[in-house]
Amino acid sequence: PESIAVKDLASKMSYTAAEVVKKLFMMGVMATINQEIDFDTAALVASEFGVTCEELPPDVDPTEIPEVEDDPKSLKLRPPVVTVMGHVDHGKTSLLDCIRNTHVSAHEAGGITQHIGAYQVNCKGKKIVFLDTPGHEAFTAMRARGAQITDIAILVVAADDGVMPQTVEAINHAKSAEVPIIVAINKIDKPGANPDHVKQELMEHGLVPEEYGGDTIMVPVSAKKQLGIDDLLENVLLVAEVEELKANPNRDARGVIVEAKLDKGRGPVATVLVQNGTLRIGDSVVCGTTYGKVRAMVDDRGNNVKKAGPSVPVEILGLNDVPEAGDVLAVLEEKQARSIAEARIERQRTKLIKSKKVSLDDLFQQIQ
Ligand code: GDP
Ligand code: MG
Repeated sequence: PESIAVKDLASKMSYTAAEVVKKLFMMGVMATINQEIDFDTAALVASEFGVTCEELPPDVDPTEIPEVEDDPKSLKLRPPVVTVMGHVDHGKTSLLDCIRNTHVSAHEAGGITQHIGAYQVNCKGKKIVFLDTPGHEAFTAMRARGAQITDIAILVVAADDGVMPQTVEAINHAKSAEVPIIVAINKIDKPGANPDHVKQELMEHGLVPEEYGGDTIMVPVSAKKQLGIDDLLENVLLVAEVEELKANPNRDARGVIVEAKLDKGRGPVATVLVQNGTLRIGDSVVCGTTYGKVRAMVDDRGNNVKKAGPSVPVEILGLNDVPEAGDVLAVLEEKQARSIAEARIERQRTKLIKSKKVSLDDLFQQIQ
């Protein structure tokens, strides 16, 4: 319920805070001038001053898309979505390439993966989705937009270099997002590699390996020599199993934009990671300040597909403009999708005008 500070109520009624405190006291309510009182109390004391209080309806954001609750019975397991993080040069790109090269089977349609910002691999008949943009920039950008797409973070630490500043940053990002961390101790092929030293250092940052009684999985790997990759992926599946990642494939899709660009020939192209529901060709969508009808979808093997279920990354065509990474995509009726996108643009515009006004005022004050 709504509340108001005594002094704010007083100033709204053009009385002094002391007068209101006194009146409250006579009503048997002890309150200081800074104290918040609830609506009923405020209305009561205001009536003593001959003022009527009116409760305002809660702020409604016309651009917000209401969340649809899923019946627990409709939920099905979905593949985990993994981000690779770590200090520069510790081997994030090498690891992503190595996994891509070793775990995309040639007999699958397409065989060679397309760079669409995310890709799926197979391990023991199960799927894992990797976000192609290593590093925490992407991670933070998405979180800043309120989108959480990562289920598991693989923290790459070079065995010859140990914990470095961006290692610590990555740990903090994953922790604040409450995303479980699996450590890949990379470059174990190098002569100077010292995995035990890395473990000691990680313990100082709260990541305790299982052999020391902790619960952080740490897997020695070499992205260069393709060592330990299966072990790493099996552990990803293990953590995913514990997390019980589920979604409802039988509803309108919700997803997050992983990357987007303007393609000369094809127009706006965006990679969507479907988080819930199933996205289909012909669906009307809103996506940040953009909208449109899904005209075509291409998967991470370059195949044209008609639909994409939970945890599937697809490139989509048909948006009226280029959305931003981290924008949420939702399937809506055509009219609604368009009006929400337009309302969001309008909001951005008024925000811009407001911030301009503020800075002009600031400037004026400075001159004075
Ligand atoms: P990123 O900055 O974290 O993406 O790191 P890169 O993947 O670009 O790797 C940085 C350097 O480390 C490159 O020269 C890689 O060849 C090298 N590197 C990556 N993984 C390994 C590994 O397992 N063993 C060795 N010896 N070198 C590696
Ligand atoms: Mg890199």
